[in-house]
Parts: sequence; structure tokens; C-alpha cells
Amino acid sequence: MIRMIEFEARCCDTSFKVETKPDRTSGYLQCPKCQQIMPSVSIAPWKVWLHELALIHAQQLHDRSYPRGDSRQFSVDGAAAELAACLILCPGHIEDYRELAASTGRNIGKDLLGAWIGYQKDFEIKWTQYCSENAGILFVRRPVGQVDVVPSRDLVDSIYVLLHGTGEWYRASCWADRELLLKKGERNPKPMPVDGNPTWGAHWKKLYPFQSITSRLGLLPIAPP
Ligand SMILES: [Zn+2]
Repeated sequence: MIRMIEFEARCCDTSFKVETKPDRTSGYLQCPKCQQIMPSVSIAPWKVWLHELALIHAQQLHDRSYPRGDSRQFSVDGAAAELAACLILCPGHIEDYRELAASTGRNIGKDLLGAWIGYQKDFEIKWTQYCSENAGILFVRRPVGQVDVVPSRDLVDSIYVLLHGTGEWYRASCWADRELLLKKGERNPKPMPVDGNPTWGAHWKKLYPFQSITSRLGLLPIAPP
């Protein structure tokens, strides 16, 4: 018996109560009002798990004794944004996502697997705290061990999705493929991340609006129950 978990989602100025779908069902979460992909979800039922995940990652970093100055800091908000993206894009694969998130040796560009979403490329999920006229940048950071970010080397051939929020609610604001991010991105866009490390990125308004992702990539919603 697969356990369904109820969570909240928002679209069209309305809150909906929805459930995670049976394991490995494909399809995105659809707004019952406008039929578009749901942009906003609450990760409240998974808060305890996210904190457990932070402990697992802290232990993994400790065990592998990374050199000092390693930038691979685990962020609860970043993981919450990935979980929220999974609830939006492929809610049938939430257990697959949780398993992958807790595993070691994760690959860049593969936060969500394309097979879960029904697309040939994998998905890289990015998080930003704020989203406004000035804030809300999709950043690609300098890889560990490199002095700078080199877009042609460091941008992966995945679909990038930016979510913003903090605490319980996360909203997808934009998406881009590698080509668009190369074209619209700039070096060290402002405001810079607090660590001041080199980045490549673009303000969310320069990239594709999130809800266009379904038609542009040919994604399908979850079949109605
Ligand atoms: Zn809607």
C-alpha cells in the first residue's frame, strides 16, 4: 500500500489540498482552475525529513573530509526547493527523489531525472530567497576546486528551474535550457550571493516564464483519478 501525503498548492489566487500520487506515476501537478502547471507548493509535511537530510549531508561531508573552504554547503532551503520542484513537476516520484537526495555522489544537473518528468534531459533545480523586479537570479556557481565559473564548461545540458521562497512555501518563477542561460546570463550579476564567489546567472525575467515549461517541453499532466 502506497502512502499518500496531503500537501497544499497554490495557483489562481486559490489554495488547493492535493495528495502525492501513487509511486512512479508520471505527469505534472495541474491547477484545477486554469489547467496550467501548479507554480507554488508547501513542503510542510516534509520539514522533519529535510532536517534529517541536512544531518545526513553533514555526516557525508565529515566522512569524506573535504578540504577546507569547500563550498559544498548543504542548504535546507535549496533542498526544500528541489523537493517543491519534484512535487510540481513529478509528484509521482517523490519517494525516488527522497532516495536520490539522501544518496552520496549526486551529479550536477541531475536533481530530478528526466525519466521522472517525461523528458529526455535531466533537471537542475536552483533556489533563491527573493523574487522581485530586482532580486531573483538563477545562479550557476563556481565548481568546487575551480577559481572561476566558465559558462561553456560549467553549464550542464539540463533544464534549469528556479524556485524562490523560504520556510514552507516555494514558487517556481522561471526555467531555461543551457542555450538560453548561455545567451541571457552574465558574469557576476547583481545582487551577488553573500559568499561573493564568482557566478554566472540571469535575472528570472530574462528567462522563460515557468508555466511555459509544459508546452515548450511537451510535458503532460497527471491523469485525473
Ligand atoms: Zn491556476
